[in-house]
Amino acid sequence: MDFQHSPKAQEYIKRVSDFIKTEIEPVEDDYLRELHSLDNKWVVLPIIEELKAKAKAAGLWNLFFPDEEHGVGLSNLEYAPLAELMGRSFIAPEVFNCNAPDTGNMEVLEKYGSAEQQEQWLKPLMAGEIRSAFCMTEPDVASSDATNMEATAIVDGDEIVLNGRKWWSTGIGHPNCKVGIFMGLTNPDAGRHQQHSMVLFPMDAPGVKIERMLPVFGHYDEPFGHGEISFTNVRLPLSNVIAGPGRGFEIAQGRLGPGRIHHCMRMIGGAERALELMCKRAASRVAFGKPLANLGGNRDIIANARMNIEQARLLVLKAAWMIDNVGAMGAMSEISQIKVVAPNMAQEIIDAAMQIHGGGGLSDDYPLAGLFLAARAIRLADGPDEVHRGLIAKFELAKYKKYMPKG
Ligand SMILES: Cc1cc2nc3c(=O)[nH]c(=O)nc-3n(C[C@H](O)[C@H](O)[C@H](O)COP(=O)(O)OP(=O)(O)OC[C@H]3O[C@@H](n4cnc5c(N)ncnc54)[C@H](O)[C@@H]3O)c2cc1C
Repeated sequence: MDFQHSPKAQEYIKRVSDFIKTEIEPVEDDYLRELHSLDNKWVVLPIIEELKAKAKAAGLWNLFFPDEEHGVGLSNLEYAPLAELMGRSFIAPEVFNCNAPDTGNMEVLEKYGSAEQQEQWLKPLMAGEIRSAFCMTEPDVASSDATNMEATAIVDGDEIVLNGRKWWSTGIGHPNCKVGIFMGLTNPDAGRHQQHSMVLFPMDAPGVKIERMLPVFGHYDEPFGHGEISFTNVRLPLSNVIAGPGRGFEIAQGRLGPGRIHHCMRMIGGAERALELMCKRAASRVAFGKPLANLGGNRDIIANARMNIEQARLLVLKAAWMIDNVGAMGAMSEISQIKVVAPNMAQEIIDAAMQIHGGGGLSDDYPLAGLFLAARAIRLADGPDEVHRGLIAKFELAKYKKYMPKG
């Protein structure tokens, strides 16, 4: 087993890291301060477009695509350390056109989209000209069980009609969000996993209405945000269905694999940044005549944080390696394992870092509160911890089937 990154990954680690240090870090705090001072925060400030143009010109663009036609030909394993670096910043993922939910949506369009769909939506997404949303979760049903979905996508001649209500659709508030993917029930009589369809809807289609934006601990995560949307008799050409009616589940499984581990890779970066801040604070601040590092169990907290990050990183790399080598379907247990481990690990470390910063840790003077919020949210987004644990246990217990009572 080789623990070194490939030469190509090492080259990109250097380039992405240099770009973050020289272009993003010097302006990020000012950017956030300016955005938060605005009455209307649902805007793209010029600095974001400037940084995107620089990243694109530097060839640091769409790095998550594993093929050379769409990205730069980095495997998931090679992309992991880059996503980790991006996870240290709130704006880097968008600057490199590697932000959720667009990456997952681009993967879907690249893998399952028709030539027409790719021309209309994939091209501008890949160019970073528009943003997108993914609308699966519903307010009225327990959506961690996707078969509960009640919103409908009914075929009517050469059209498809969408009705229902979705919420927690990330990115829907972005001024450049022009398209969403709606998942709805098409045929309740089909097999359990052939009932649903994914349909592309333009944000300005008649009948699509953003009802409200949802706060997370009082924060709206502008300019992307998370919204509740109603769909009332939204009529679209049948050609807007991705891969044809009834294939929603098949696509969802393909989509959530790599997308889920991108979040996990970024969580490692968030945890590293928290540990770095924790150590600087513990070393430099004095109480009761000693640096905070020498008080109580603070050294244990720092050591535990280092060990937990290392363990999570190895698991994220293993899951990425498995997606590359056996595909997302063959890596389902590992994807679920890291989907539980990474945000829980990050949440705990960021929480400890906030504690060592005292009151300041909970303010916006440090990135910790924002990082905490992101880690907490990821324990739900793309499936709650419990559902993933259930899947991991299912895979484990399948090895001991003969011990289970019959029936
Ligand atoms: C910040 C944020 C962003 C999100 N972005 C998106 C997005 O872009 N698109 C989208 O469609 N959705 C998005 N979501 C929604 C997210 O995917 C759902 O919240 C999640 O799948 C859970 O569904 P639910 O909220 O309906 O909870 P429910 O299904 O009602 O579940 C509630 C709780 O029940 C428990 N539970 C459920 N199943 C089990 C089980 N098998 N075993 C044990 N306990 C269980 C768990 O504690 C779970 O948290 C986002 C959520 C958040 C918070």
